[in-house]
Amino acid sequence: MADMIIKNGTVYDPLNNIPGEKKDICIKDGKVTDKIKEKDATVIDAKGKTVMPGGVEIHAHIAGAKVNAGRLMRPEDAWMGKVPKGKLTRAESGSSIFNVYATGYKYARMGYTTLFEAAVPPLLARHTHEELEEIPIADKGAYVLMDNNWLGMEYIKNGEIDKLAALSAWFLKATKCMVLKFVNPGGNEAWGWGKNLIEVNEHTPHFEVTPAEILNAFAEVNERLGLPHSIHVHCNNLGHPGNVGTTIDTFNAVKDIKPGRSDRKAILHATHAQFHAYGGSNWKDVESESKVIVDYINSNDHVTIDMGQLMFGDTTTMTADGAMEYDLHKLSRRKWINCDVELETGSGIIPVRYSPKVAVNTVQWAIGLELALLIKDKTKIALTTDHPNAAPFTKYPEIIALLMSSTMRDGMMKGVHESIKRTLLPSECAGIELTLEDIAKITRGTQAKLLNFVELGKGHLAPGADGDVAVYDIDPDKLDGSRNPDQIINAFRKAIYTIKGGEIVVKDGEVVATPMGRTFIANPEIDESLNKAMLEDLTEKFVHYYSVNMANYPVQSRYLRNPFEIPLKPSKEVA
Ligand SMILES: [Zn+2]
Repeated sequence: MADMIIKNGTVYDPLNNIPGEKKDICIKDGKVTDKIKEKDATVIDAKGKTVMPGGVEIHAHIAGAKVNAGRLMRPEDAWMGKVPKGKLTRAESGSSIFNVYATGYKYARMGYTTLFEAAVPPLLARHTHEELEEIPIADKGAYVLMDNNWLGMEYIKNGEIDKLAALSAWFLKATKCMVLKFVNPGGNEAWGWGKNLIEVNEHTPHFEVTPAEILNAFAEVNERLGLPHSIHVHCNNLGHPGNVGTTIDTFNAVKDIKPGRSDRKAILHATHAQFHAYGGSNWKDVESESKVIVDYINSNDHVTIDMGQLMFGDTTTMTADGAMEYDLHKLSRRKWINCDVELETGSGIIPVRYSPKVAVNTVQWAIGLELALLIKDKTKIALTTDHPNAAPFTKYPEIIALLMSSTMRDGMMKGVHESIKRTLLPSECAGIELTLEDIAKITRGTQAKLLNFVELGKGHLAPGADGDVAVYDIDPDKLDGSRNPDQIINAFRKAIYTIKGGEIVVKDGEVVATPMGRTFIANPEIDESLNKAMLEDLTEKFVHYYSVNMANYPVQSRYLRNPFEIPLKPSKEVA
């Protein structure tokens, strides 16, 4: 691979305190380096352009059984977004649930080079990897769902945290995932009995543990195992009026846990916070309580969030929170899928159309923006849409423009429901505009920091970092983002260059190369006798309850073409 110099661009690399500086970025053997000989290198002239590290997606649903069920359920969605095959590219389909090829190409066109699938039902992990392996260009990783695991809940009930650590390690290895993920903890098991858990201190049937106990125990385990990211949590009570109290109770449930690694303060990452920041008592008086979340994040370091920004239009919702999808189905009466994943978790899917004429949707739209505008430290909040739930990820350029242009927000607010008065967007957020440095944080730097992937070379451009770079057609010296949001949208929709591992993969918004990336996995070490004791319990679950033989359960190594084992920093208790 030829060396490369990206010359004279304005570089935004917030993790290295470079807030828009004219400098060259050199890449050798796929990594950023100090200097190279220009005569041997590919030279990219980035004068008058914006240069950022490759984008990092911290939370999206892009691969696996749930995504595929959504595709089968919505053939109309496939038709709405079809793009014929090109010289190099495979045919693309989907307007909210993309096929695997479209997923890789569309992210790359926006300058994204690293993607994380946010919810893998353990039993169905093989399917997730089959699809991740077909997504071109990006490096990838996945989060395994441990929220309603029967043996896990039994261990928590009995106070057997050591065995819970061994169980978590086994599931991470068996599913080839790298983050412990929790959706509606305890609530999905309750949903199997037609119930749900709304408060963090309610008990799930039979197992008699609470969401607070589940999260506290797994947070402890997460720190003992030395996993790079904190536990990743979709709080209970998603999407219901007045749910902000449950969200804050969830944050407080792990407040006593100390970080196991010195390079991370966060104990819990609360995903798609927009869906968890509602006041009011019913669908008629629902209002924004984003301020409660903002104040909490501004004054606490043990919780970080991503936006879950909702955008108006048609999309598909899919989540392991099966009970919540049933509620949505009752409201909308649209087609619906419900699924139980034996002994582990559940899921639901329905199509949605978010409308600016609907009071609730207007409040939801405002809340995501409020969170990003009002949280002071932009390394505690990441840009997401919980793709495809609140909007497809292809809406990111519009969201960036909304955050950078109060003029654009003011214009849109004229066409939405009067419930906008129940939000902070017209008042407290008036006139606030994010800078390109802020955008570089919330689209890549923050994600890499929260996932602890900075040392692994993601989200920044210091020597040693991956040669993942995006060049956008924005001249910061001439940009008046507030007045020209369309320029921002066009620039972030189609990068002039996306470079992945030192190779140009997108030029002028078109895919020009489709290399296959790595898959990040975690393999925690566990004491042998502890592991043996845990396996006796797990074997019993397989013999009596699972429909799958234990030997056939783990994803075989051959499913991953290019696995990359991430280094862990376990605390001494389990090392
Ligand atoms: Zn999600």
